[in-house]
Amino acid sequence: MEDHFDPATRIQDMLQFDEFGGVNPAITDSSTFTFLDPETMTETFLGHTEGCFLYSRHWNPSNKFLADALAAMEDTQSAWVTSSGMAAITCSILQCCKAGDHIITSVTTYGGTFAFLKNYLPKFNIDVSFVDISDMDCVIKAIRPSTKLIYTESITNPLLQVSDIPSLASIARKKGIILMVDNTFCPMMISPARLGADIVVYSMTKFINGKNDCVAGAICGSGDFINALSNVNYGTAMLLGPVLDPMRSSSILKNLHTLHVRMKQHGINAMYIASKLKQLGLKVRYPGLPDHPQHSLLKSIMNQEYGYGGMLVLELQSVQIANEFMRLIQMEGVGYLAVSLGYFKTLFSNSGKSTSSEVPEEMQRKMGLTEGLVRFSIGLDNNIERSMDKISDCLRKLHIIG
Ligand code: PLP
Repeated sequence: MEDHFDPATRIQDMLQFDEFGGVNPAITDSSTFTFLDPETMTETFLGHTEGCFLYSRHWNPSNKFLADALAAMEDTQSAWVTSSGMAAITCSILQCCKAGDHIITSVTTYGGTFAFLKNYLPKFNIDVSFVDISDMDCVIKAIRPSTKLIYTESITNPLLQVSDIPSLASIARKKGIILMVDNTFCPMMISPARLGADIVVYSMTKFINGKNDCVAGAICGSGDFINALSNVNYGTAMLLGPVLDPMRSSSILKNLHTLHVRMKQHGINAMYIASKLKQLGLKVRYPGLPDHPQHSLLKSIMNQEYGYGGMLVLELQSVQIANEFMRLIQMEGVGYLAVSLGYFKTLFSNSGKSTSSEVPEEMQRKMGLTEGLVRFSIGLDNNIERSMDKISDCLRKLHIIG
């Protein structure tokens, strides 16, 4: 093992050569591939021909270039790219679980994931326990003989709780349970597979692509798992078919090469805003602040040089105040009132009324998702002091601060 694992250097060290030697691998704009003889085609269907492509729902060279770069970044044997983050999550879960199995999940996850686990999986007789993932006793107590999977997000959406991946991995390993981690909020910052996660999933729609011009996802894991997912007879990804368009793979791959620079700047800017909001006496949650409940845990598991991420939460007193505030900061040009994250401009939304609206209100309150919670994805602003001044002016105008 290297002394110092660096995801960005892993990507940089890859030399990816296409047929014509373009520095950006050529886009393979084909859904199907020719064979010189029928026997090779048959062998390819049987999975016996390394490096042969047969049909783009299965594999496409452009998707393979991106998947290889993601596997290098995560230090997994293999990876597969999907048409959305939800496709990555749902295909991976369905690949691991069958009727009668049980899943333990963090109660705080992205709303779509929550809805899939809570409302959709019962159709397949897969039972799900929702737990406080920071409480290891609670996780251990929830384990049943039928538990197949522990699911969590490295930094949870929207509460920014940090998962103790090494402890969860150790619990899971002892019981032969798979640990799956959604690392969407913190690519490069946290390397879940290095910490013991078996499968790492991403919404590449967010930081990895960073441009909000497409929806995409990724699954990183062992060669066996990725082969199983893409198996022509039984593979969930192959059979449900959420393939990523190769044009998009190509553009995401180019954006992946600037991810390290962007993550650092998101982190610097978010740290600045979080500290200033805190100094104003506001209720702010940011994993980089020493008073965050898992600040020292995060420090102990993160790849230090990438900072604490671009996501922060500001808790205002009510939905009405949050709405007025968001309307005003958009008008003042701080950023956009929009869902999603990891964009070069600042985005903000009220989580309870948007990306977590799938979670019933009673459950939202129980897990600590307050009604006036505004989730920020801080952008790459060159002059973050100026952006903070605008935010302060808006807070003052609305008498949220004196
Ligand atoms: N995981 C997390 C943490 C998310 O925030 C989201 C979307 O907001 C998803 C997964 C789903 O990704 P996608 O919208 O690409 O399907």
